[in-house]
Amino acid sequence: MLVISGKEVSAAVRQTIAEEVKEFKSETGVTPGLAVVMVGDNPASAVYVRNKHKACAEVGMYSEVHTLPASTTEEELLALLRQMNENPALHGILVQLPLPKHINEERVIANISPEKDVDAFHAQNVGKIMIGNYSFLPCTPAGVMELLDYYGIDPAGKNCVVVGRSNIVGKPQALLMLERNATVTVCHSRTKDLASFTKDADILVVAIGRPKFITADMVKPGAVVIDVGINRMEDGKLCGDADYEAISEIASAMTPVPGGVGPMTITMLLKNTLTAAKNFQKK
Ligand code: NDP
Repeated sequence: MLVISGKEVSAAVRQTIAEEVKEFKSETGVTPGLAVVMVGDNPASAVYVRNKHKACAEVGMYSEVHTLPASTTEEELLALLRQMNENPALHGILVQLPLPKHINEERVIANISPEKDVDAFHAQNVGKIMIGNYSFLPCTPAGVMELLDYYGIDPAGKNCVVVGRSNIVGKPQALLMLERNATVTVCHSRTKDLASFTKDADILVVAIGRPKFITADMVKPGAVVIDVGINRMEDGKLCGDADYEAISEIASAMTPVPGGVGPMTITMLLKNTLTAAKNFQKK
């Protein structure tokens, strides 16, 4: 079985991004810049934010991290975003989710300038993806497509089943697969007889958030399995939404967890930030 290595693909794509950043800087004198905002002290978010900051530095981008206390009001956060929207040194703005309950996430996302919305969560960017005319793609589904392309796995004409329908993974993933001419089925918690759908998948993308939920008997022999899930087990280890050990006996290709889709998400964020900087330059 082919192990779809997000580590390997990430390293290759980041190398290309670093070269493009260098070229862009020497041509324009502008350094692509990303702001990451975190509210509260969610330990998982803190790790992601640190990794994003480090990844920016590694490809030669500027980044700033704003860590705000959990007591920050929505108005204070919106005021910061207004400043960032106007700041020419920043081409990308990302607000780390989840936000504390007293802050309305939808309103916050709506107040990020669509041109700087490198997560592609703003309704304007979501709409653009729907009609296939976009600048940015949401990082995780874009990372999945990059993995498939790297290994020459063409979704065209294949049965693709996406399990999960969240706004950040499942739904955009289904749209991207559709754009690439797959026949797409989206399953979720109300799907009856899930296995009857997953067993039909040539490409199965799983984004549920339940450890090892997809078992080998739910997978068609020879299928490509992309496991987006990241779950922390009691022993502290990470595992995906699919039973890697058992499924790797029958799948033709599969992503491990960790080291599969995970590393691609930040890589796609870097790519979007560079795209945003280039778009500003074209204006
Ligand atoms: P959400 O909780 O927002 O969505 C989960 C989806 O799974 C929902 O659509 C839900 O259905 C569906 N679901 C839940 N239980 C079942 C079930 N028993 N059968 C079928 N479908 C089910 O999660 P996210 O999309 O944000 O994340 C999914 C996973 O991916 C998580 O493990 C998360 O940590 C991981 N993730 C990884 C990233 C990466 O970088 N690799 C980035 C983002 C997420 P319904 O809509 O009906 O409730």
